[in-house]
Formats: sequence, C-alpha cells, structure tokens
Amino acid sequence: MTDASPTSHSNVTDPVRHGYARYEQQASRWLGRYTQQGGQVFCGAGCFACCNMPIRVSLAEALIMTAALNPEQARAVEAHARAAVANARTARSDEQYVQRHRDEVGYCPILNRETGGCSQYAARPTRCRDTFSAFPATYCESGSLERMTRREQAEYRREVARTPGTDGELHFIAPLEHLSEPIWVAAARAMRQEWGIEVWGDFWLLTTLGADPKFMGAVTRGDTRAAWQLASGRGLAHRALLEME
Ligand code: SF4
Repeated sequence: MTDASPTSHSNVTDPVRHGYARYEQQASRWLGRYTQQGGQVFCGAGCFACCNMPIRVSLAEALIMTAALNPEQARAVEAHARAAVANARTARSDEQYVQRHRDEVGYCPILNRETGGCSQYAARPTRCRDTFSAFPATYCESGSLERMTRREQAEYRREVARTPGTDGELHFIAPLEHLSEPIWVAAARAMRQEWGIEVWGDFWLLTTLGADPKFMGAVTRGDTRAAWQLASGRGLAHRALLEME
C-alpha cells in the first residue's frame, strides 16, 4: 500500500512528513556546528545499539510505517507488538518494562541484522531520528550503566557533565531531541483536527493497528470506545501502550 491510497490518512501523515524533512535540515545544520566546535557524535551506519528501546509514537507517525511495510515485515511487527503487550502485562515497574523490552522483547524487527541498518529508514519514527549519542555505542547498550562499578559510574557522570550538548545526566545530545518537538506538536494537532481525538502509544502496536480498517474506522469517527474494543479483541490493548483521548 502506498500513502496515496484512499486509506492513506494523508491529512494526519503529511504534517508529520513535513516535520521530518524540516528536522533533517535543522539537525544537519546543528550537527555541522557541533562537530566544527569539536563535538563528537558516535551514531552511524551499521550501529543499532538503541534499536531495542521501547518507542512511543503518535498514530499519525505509525501510519507512515504501516504504509511502508511489506506483508512479511507487518507480520514481524505484529509479533513484536504482542511481545510488548505481554511484557507490559507482567512488568512490575517502568524500569523492569524497559529492561525486559531491551533484553527479551529484543531488537526492532524492522532492523536488518545483516547490515545493521534500518530497512525502513525513510519511514522511521521521530525517536529513531532524534537520538544521537555523544559517547561510543557501548554506553548505549542495555545494562551498560548498571554493569559499571561505582567508580566507573562516577567517572561517567563527570564525563557527561563536561561534554557539551548533553543534559548533564545522560550521554545523549539533548538539543537534537528538543529540535524534534514540533513534529510531536504537528502530529497532535493533525489528529485532533482530523479525528477529534489523539492516539499515542507503542510504535509496533500502533503500526499494526494502523493497518486494521475497523480500528482505523473507529478512530476516524473519533470513537475511542469502539477503537479500544477492537484493539482489545485482537489482544492489542494495554493502557500503557495504547492511549486515546
Ligand atoms: S524503526 Fe529502524 S531505526 Fe527505529 S528501532 Fe526500528 S530498525 Fe531501529
């Protein structure tokens, strides 16, 4: 399916696509200045250390991925969504949910494990676009901070604090995350205008539900109750992973 089909929901996806294009330009200019001033960014082709993180998106964003996937990828994404729901149902805390997502639910099925690249790079969501590391990939791996000794953790914190561009707490580049805020705002506004509701949640779950005509029919009518029931009937409803308001 291409995004030009009658079910493309282009009124909600177009503002997000424009936001992506604008972000790429702004982030590229910011990165140019940062590296000129001696800043380092360790993200690059073939690195996928953060592709096992949970990802929250708007349904507007997820629909862009829904339209890009082939049937085999769509099945893999649905299986991943079901694993995320199972994790959410039994996790005793947010921390455990994140840890188990990274270690047990595992890497995003859209990742090409042979090349280490995203197989749907043009359709990847905001979180995948705005996460940049000022430290080598080993610091992005699951459990890296927990594995450090106290002394190493203290050194890590000192190093983060003196690295320009971080928020002083973690080694990710904070201004590049802030630059993406207009994409979130545009998605919220477009969903509200088009459907009268906003739908947010887990990336793989919403990417799966975005291909369900009944679910999308309920969303398009602004019928959150019917949409929830449809998701629930498919075993894809969890209040932490599907938010409608
Ligand atoms: S969509 Fe692409 S970049 Fe994002 S987590 Fe999946 S494989 Fe990685």
